[in-house]
Amino acid sequence: NIPVIAVDGPSGVGKGTLCQALANHLNWHLLDSGAIYRVLALSALQQNIALDDTKQLATLALGLPLTFDSNSDDVKVLLDGMDVSRDIRTEETGGAASKVASINEVRVALLQRQRDFRQLPGLVADGRDMGTVVFTDAPVKIFLDASAQSRAERRMKQLQDKQIHAKFGEILQEITARDERDRNRAVAPLKPAVDALIIDTTSLSIQDVFNQSIMYIKE
Ligand code: C5P
Repeated sequence: NIPVIAVDGPSGVGKGTLCQALANHLNWHLLDSGAIYRVLALSALQQNIALDDTKQLATLALGLPLTFDSNSDDVKVLLDGMDVSRDIRTEETGGAASKVASINEVRVALLQRQRDFRQLPGLVADGRDMGTVVFTDAPVKIFLDASAQSRAERRMKQLQDKQIHAKFGEILQEITARDERDRNRAVAPLKPAVDALIIDTTSLSIQDVFNQSIMYIKE
């Protein structure tokens, strides 16, 4: 059975950074499942498909021409061969992603695509339901949490680093609204798996979170 480290938590909590660091350290594959929902949302917006049109979205999800290109330093996300790595990172696309992600048919259509990332020597999976739905048998499950304020601060910094313009108040509001939706939806609501290690990252550095995770993985 190919090992998986399932990392879940709300937006801006540092999952992406942790997963990237773990994947590099272990030399394992990386699944950024949020990017899949973001690309789906972007594709729907481009094609004028309503974000609550279950049938069209499920069809789009099944045939989504999405590839990850990990040849460069930064993983590139390609939609139909076009680099959309930047476009999918805006809060607008994040909000749209969380809308399409609340539809059960969409989640079902994307299940196998995510499971296919489970390849030797192992997978680090980043998302909302990695431990609760997609990889329920993962031997290691970690749930990161942090205050909305500190998550908004981190998200601000990430966007600034990518030179994407953003206002703090708006980011905070959008992050809070997105979390509400992710935690309260009927399918795969955001919550820790019963067997997950919960780490509150509010006052921890990236290094602290990485060290705690590595210690837990080695146990
Ligand atoms: O992690 P990221 O911010 O890129 O995810 C965007 C949105 O996609 C989340 O707000 C969530 O609604 C959805 N998502 C999900 N399940 C996952 C990953 C992301 O529902 N495994």
